[in-house]
Amino acid sequence: MADDPTGEVTELLQQLIRNGCVNDGTAGSGQEVRNADLLTNYLEGRGLELERFEPVPGRTSVLARLEGRDRDAPTLLLMGHTDVVPVSPDGWERDPFAAELVDGEVWGRGAVDMLNLTASMAVALRRLADQRFRPRGTLAYLAVADEEALGHHGAGWLTDHARDAVAADYVITESGGIPMPSGQGGLRLPVIVGEKGTYWCRLLVRGTPGHASQPLRTDNALVKAAEVVRRVAGYRAPAVLHDVWRRFIAEMGFPEEWSAPLLDPDAIDRFCEELPLVGLARQAHACTHLTIAPTIMQAGVKTNVIPDHAEIQLDIRTLPGQTGTEVRAVLEELLGDLSEDVEIVADSDDASTASPVETPLWDVLEKLCRSVYPDSALVPFMTVGATDARFFRRLGVPAYGFGLFSRRMSFDQYNAMFHGDNERVDVESLRLSTDLWEALARDLLV
Ligand SMILES: [Zn+2]
Repeated sequence: MADDPTGEVTELLQQLIRNGCVNDGTAGSGQEVRNADLLTNYLEGRGLELERFEPVPGRTSVLARLEGRDRDAPTLLLMGHTDVVPVSPDGWERDPFAAELVDGEVWGRGAVDMLNLTASMAVALRRLADQRFRPRGTLAYLAVADEEALGHHGAGWLTDHARDAVAADYVITESGGIPMPSGQGGLRLPVIVGEKGTYWCRLLVRGTPGHASQPLRTDNALVKAAEVVRRVAGYRAPAVLHDVWRRFIAEMGFPEEWSAPLLDPDAIDRFCEELPLVGLARQAHACTHLTIAPTIMQAGVKTNVIPDHAEIQLDIRTLPGQTGTEVRAVLEELLGDLSEDVEIVADSDDASTASPVETPLWDVLEKLCRSVYPDSALVPFMTVGATDARFFRRLGVPAYGFGLFSRRMSFDQYNAMFHGDNERVDVESLRLSTDLWEALARDLLV
């Protein structure tokens, strides 16, 4: 692997953070064109093919390709997003957009989600281009806008409107890779191979208006809605111990008193209810169940008017194979006798996606990681959130979430920094990921 250009990836990350491409979900936010310009300047003049896409003004994505010699050889796409989520500055010990380098760590919004990887991928690509690397396969790099608001102006748009340009055989993007100690000794490096789906919906509850001074025997939509929330919150979905879960538990080396119930559909629910570590319990439960969380309720117009309508919003997350039709059937059953007064309106029906674990990419990644951490093994993991990987998985392209990190951060610290306060990354982790992408291209594409 190359000698230390840590300064280069650190500096590029700092510039990406300082551009502050904050995506608050509105079409005009993000303005990723600033990071797109930065990356274009960084990559141009190196013999790479560069292409830019701007579906709406300012929401720019950049594609760079290091063309292979053989059209039939595989294409590896390294994809990073260039936007970040907003901050609550009060919770930060340092300026979230100053990108200060303190004690070997770069601080700032996007330091782990995921400007770190976006920077390391660009540095690896430029390094290979400068070395006149000319493999059989093609190495592509895609810096996308709008990941943090579901990718409508980024990866979602590109896979719909520029499918040939972004076509690939393998995709790597966030997140994963943070070293986790195994109960059997050694390290486990989680690879995100799948993610849950979302079925966000509104329940419109009907009632009959009337004077609130005489509530007896009225048809109050708010009272009905409260009962709907009670029924939904009481739902206990059956456990689904899918392959990714089974493999993750089998390979993590948890103590027997954990792994046995976590692999038993009849015992996992009780285990999650009673485990004192509530963070782990929630995660284990979410990875193995359809979840329904009521999050918003609105009703009423005036204190003395019986409300004739109420609206409930539900955040529903599905597992591989679970469809919107099945979700609606669950909701209808929960509503029971109330269903004729409640209309279900789906706002997003985005199915779960998963990639196979048995791929040449997996094998090469594992081999390369072992050259850094000799006692490590990859483990497949499913995230309960959403990433741009899903657009490619839906096209049948294996897409993994991965990056290589030092052991400076724990899994809990890493998780807490996603969309949280005091986000930062150590320069050793930046170097490890940069070296990994370079080695991966050399191994997989030659
Ligand atoms: Zn991200």
